[in-house]
Amino acid sequence: ALMITDECINCDVCEPECPNQAISMGADYYQIDPARCTECVGHFDEPQCVQVCPVACIPVNPAHVETREGLMAKYLRLQQAG
Ligand code: SF4
Ligand code: SF4
Repeated sequence: ALMITDECINCDVCEPECPNQAISMGADYYQIDPARCTECVGHFDEPQCVQVCPVACIPVNPAHVETREGLMAKYLRLQQAG
């Protein structure tokens, strides 16, 4: 999963681009739910939030480093859950 750092300027452009509804407003800036972020695996070749973020504040979450296979399995679980 990816994460949003405190460099986020709350510009709102990433939230609607996420195919997994993983992005929401947090207490001070936007946040990513690691249970819903597949790094866009299953939907797109590149993470859509990273593509649109104007300040490049969306790195891999060091607490949630995942393999491509693991991310694909998460994508399939999310699809089944609807
Ligand atoms: Fe959503 Fe993709 Fe960004 Fe993860 S990488 S938060 S799935 S847009
Ligand atoms: Fe924050 Fe980047 Fe998302 Fe804008 S695109 S709300 S700066 S994480």
